[in-house]
Amino acid sequence: MSRIAFTAVAAAIALAGTAASFPSTVAVSAGKKVSCGADVRNFILVGEAWLAKGAEASLWFHTTTQPPTTQPPTTQLPNHPTTQPPNHPTTQPPNHPTTKPVSGYEVLFHNGPIDGSRKTGSLSHVRNLYRSMARDEEWFPFEVVVREKNVEVRAGAESAAPVVRYTEGEKPYRLPQYAKMLFSRGDFVFEGRKGETKFRDVVLIPLKDGVTNPDDIFPYADESTDPVIRLQQEDFPVINFHAHAKGGFTPEIAYNKSLVDGINYGLAVNIYGKIVRKGDGGVGRMIENDDEALEYLRGMNGLPVINGFQGEGRKWTMSFTQRSLSKCDYIFTDSMTVVDRNRQIRLYRPDEMTYNGRSPEAWMEFYVDQIEKILLNEPADIYVNPFYLPRELAPRFDELWTDTRINRVLDILVKYKIALEINSLSRLPGHKVIRMAKARGVKFTFGTNNQNANIGRLEWALEAVKACGITKDDMWFPTDSVRLSRQTTIYNTIIE
Ligand SMILES: [Zn+2]
Repeated sequence: MSRIAFTAVAAAIALAGTAASFPSTVAVSAGKKVSCGADVRNFILVGEAWLAKGAEASLWFHTTTQPPTTQPPTTQLPNHPTTQPPNHPTTQPPNHPTTKPVSGYEVLFHNGPIDGSRKTGSLSHVRNLYRSMARDEEWFPFEVVVREKNVEVRAGAESAAPVVRYTEGEKPYRLPQYAKMLFSRGDFVFEGRKGETKFRDVVLIPLKDGVTNPDDIFPYADESTDPVIRLQQEDFPVINFHAHAKGGFTPEIAYNKSLVDGINYGLAVNIYGKIVRKGDGGVGRMIENDDEALEYLRGMNGLPVINGFQGEGRKWTMSFTQRSLSKCDYIFTDSMTVVDRNRQIRLYRPDEMTYNGRSPEAWMEFYVDQIEKILLNEPADIYVNPFYLPRELAPRFDELWTDTRINRVLDILVKYKIALEINSLSRLPGHKVIRMAKARGVKFTFGTNNQNANIGRLEWALEAVKACGITKDDMWFPTDSVRLSRQTTIYNTIIE
């Protein structure tokens, strides 16, 4: 992953004498648009942005406006290189009144919490992002690089890792209203949406025809059939909240895959508690205490993913406090480990799974009681791998998961505003449970619980969106969380 500072790139190119003088400072407020009189195809555009609290703005590129601007630009054309230091233009920034841009791509500027609104760096309707790496009322660097049909966007205070890398394929999928969101060539337009946004030290560096992005090496989905681009076009948030960096799937690989797939990732690490024996807990790294959890989060700083904790096993509430729990974006838990006769039983391990003498029916009563305890006592935001059954019972799902049992679980999800994961690896839950949950106002997240790099593309979840009529309003976001108002309760006695 390249982590070159924006300003270093701009300075290096400026020194080489190829940078073009450009509107150095632009301020836009709601309804205001500033076009720049440029006509470029391949380019690097760098600068800094500042947003008032709650402000929104966008930067269009490859755009034309209607009606066309009447006056030619008064600044030097960006295609004519200048040796002037780009940060000190002697000309005035152009300020041509324009109407709505009618073609090209739009990069969004909008910070704030993860609430389901589209955030800074988003390539509108194509690669919508839901976490901003920047904060309001602070200058932050941004960079847009277009090389033929590839665009890379960087935006954020903490990192120079791209937040968008997108290549337009042979058959890009676009809704009629976005039919002209395509690469071509054209102007830049700064557009204010809400509040005040300022851009400063903006430098345009034209690039020659035929340049390629050396980091653009992974294959993209064919948009003529890809369901993800269809949801992106509708501004339906596509977020996999249950991605794990494990089995060779490092955070960096996960992040690169998220760029290619156009799926926002929530990367979650397991918080477990004290490891007594080797192999305790689930698959992958197990975090034992607050300090280690905080250290983990510091290590993730700068990677444009959403940061989650998975409460793994049944004793994590004994080892973690709000000191670390309040610092992640969300927490989820599952019911794949239960406590039976004071011992943790991992239901997914045939060598551990035991009914302890119960019939399957009696065991189900025990199991639903366990799920109630877990969700009532562990302050989680999302119930993941939901309604899981041990391998032997899975074929009897419809018989064993009676409406009464399903509703006992849904009661608690409703009570504590806990979201229900639609899990694409286990294909859980099925449409019946999803419809029952939706009818009761339960919100949803998408997840995979990948064990390695085979993370998929949320197939089961995206199918369920269509089949069960799930809308954006049915989706959960970290701003819906009530976990900080809940206690971490020690509710089990576990014999190690
Ligand atoms: Zn997991």
